[in-house]
Amino acid sequence: MTTDKLSPNWTCPIILGGNVEGALATISQIHRSLLENSPDFAYKNVHVEQLDCFIKMLEETANVREREAVTSKIRLVLVYKRGEPVRLLSTFLHLKQLILAQLLNQSRLEIAEGHMLVPFICFRSIIEHCAHFHDATQTLNQLNQSCKELEFEMFTEQLNTLVKKTLLATRFDWDGLDGLDHEQLAVKLANGSIYKAKADQKFIDLNARSILTLIERLNKSVPLARGAYELLCEFAHPNVGALFAVTTDIYTSIDQEGITWETKQIGSGEMKVFDDLSTVFSNIFVQMSEILMRFEKDSEQFIEQRNVVQSIMQNRIRIELKNPQLIVNGYAECPCASGAKIKFCCGR
Ligand SMILES: [Zn+2]
Repeated sequence: MTTDKLSPNWTCPIILGGNVEGALATISQIHRSLLENSPDFAYKNVHVEQLDCFIKMLEETANVREREAVTSKIRLVLVYKRGEPVRLLSTFLHLKQLILAQLLNQSRLEIAEGHMLVPFICFRSIIEHCAHFHDATQTLNQLNQSCKELEFEMFTEQLNTLVKKTLLATRFDWDGLDGLDHEQLAVKLANGSIYKAKADQKFIDLNARSILTLIERLNKSVPLARGAYELLCEFAHPNVGALFAVTTDIYTSIDQEGITWETKQIGSGEMKVFDDLSTVFSNIFVQMSEILMRFEKDSEQFIEQRNVVQSIMQNRIRIELKNPQLIVNGYAECPCASGAKIKFCCGR
């Protein structure tokens, strides 16, 4: 499996509340988190429009000195935001590697015991993750290719949408579940209000896409991926596959009346594959190896595409760091997510 040198830790600026005091407190937190590269910093979307609005409010309220210092911080946050897609793309790659490693490791242990139910459920999940990663790689590739035709801000917007949709897609209203007690949660679960409201036009639509759409796309590169996925669904769903997976023995006997009995035994021992199904089962393993090899290829392409994004952003960050209104600590980590200090990277 391809690994990446970048740290799997990730940070993201966070803006809470709609008032200036709240914004000030949070901006200093953002700044600190950016400098310390804290891995456990909470995630929220930052909307550039929101920051512009804070800048306007500050210009009206604070005295000249405070105003300049705070505006500089806000500008700095905006510069750091340029590196956000690169940080998130790296996180996405590490996320997929971690998930696949856990699923494969658990499958390996269960296969060694002769059990197939858990491995097949894991395999199904692996196909979903590989399909998702494949889709993200291809979409990123297409976007990078269209980069020259797009205005820079338009490119950035599309990139941010792509990255956040890929990493943060959900059907649930997680913000609405935050801090509920058991009773409040029970009410929400009962009335179905745990789901997100229809996407607000102003914000990015983070609704998760249908997994079959993604698997169809993977199927274009690994032609039997969808077939393998459908077969594996038989084991994950309460269908007959579950019965196959716990069948440990099959034998025939003829009773006194001459009637042939086929006895299938279920148990927690080694799974016995029906002879006539052996092709189906071995095919699943063949497809899994094809899909995992595709993941490796996709990882390489993904890293290339992430590097393309990084160099596009670095070009802009270099210009933005030259802004005389910006107070920059040259020894802070560079906004481009290279891991180097500003002084030795984009602020050179
Ligand atoms: Zn840099």
